[in-house]
Amino acid sequence: MSLRDIGFFVRGRLNRAMSRVLKGRAAAHRETPAPLDAVLSGPRTPLALSRLLTARDNAARESAVAAWLTARGVPFTRHRFATFEGRGDNYIVELGGGDRTLVLVAHHDAVPGSPGANDNAASVAILLALLERLAAAPPSRLRVRLLFTACEELGYLGARVYVREASMDRIAGVVSLELCGMGDALAIWDAATETPFLRTVRGALESVGRRADETYHVVGRIPVFGSDHRAFAAMGVPAYGLTVVPVAEADALRAFVFSPMKSALRAVKRRPVPFDTYHTTRDTLATLDGRALDAVVQALEALVVEAATTRPREP
Ligand SMILES: [Zn+2]
Repeated sequence: MSLRDIGFFVRGRLNRAMSRVLKGRAAAHRETPAPLDAVLSGPRTPLALSRLLTARDNAARESAVAAWLTARGVPFTRHRFATFEGRGDNYIVELGGGDRTLVLVAHHDAVPGSPGANDNAASVAILLALLERLAAAPPSRLRVRLLFTACEELGYLGARVYVREASMDRIAGVVSLELCGMGDALAIWDAATETPFLRTVRGALESVGRRADETYHVVGRIPVFGSDHRAFAAMGVPAYGLTVVPVAEADALRAFVFSPMKSALRAVKRRPVPFDTYHTTRDTLATLDGRALDAVVQALEALVVEAATTRPREP
């Protein structure tokens, strides 16, 4: 175990402690999951697909992803891991062709006791909807790797094991989706320095009419909160988080994420959206907004086009 792994492990534990602060003394949720058969045979909008994981326990979430891919006839790789920290299955779907790879990540696990709709059933659903579109018209000059990770809530364990065992060669960049189910502005985060990949992301967002500091935001390294992209960033790969936030909450959010402990203590009564439901029993399907999910699918489609057509110079 490397020093870096110990750092992630400790940060995972801190995140869990933080979740408990945010969650207070809440009991387990009372949401009923949608019957799996109904989801597998139902509509395939990202909002409808959010029912695939919402309100299931982590073992059922994990198997539901495999069930969906199998039912749709999508070839996938199962990356199974077991360490002293935990065990799980990551799933990998590869689409397109070319010598560079864009990696899009969404974790399938949730904090126990939370229905995990916005964190992170919505993001998994977004990637499944994107998968359908890319499978219909695969990019010819770019590989797109969809990675569905386990154990993100354990200090990004699934992603950490994945980056140790998979090749990081020719990866153009990584985007990890978190909390993508409500709001109207996109936030690209942990993006402290300009990179060719960050320019590609900006170009993609602008190609679908988004404007910097209005309908999309690029923010630097966020303390305490994190996501799977950090496992890739630790390997030197350009990797960012992607979250949807309400335009109206931009300032409150900035204050909240950059001093979360202070905010958690001071603003227990009203945390800014989406952190009012994050890691709580209130993270339910009813809070999701289909327009937010559709907007992320649109942005990711634009990112695939942009990454396939721009060829960043080698550093
Ligand atoms: Zn999450």
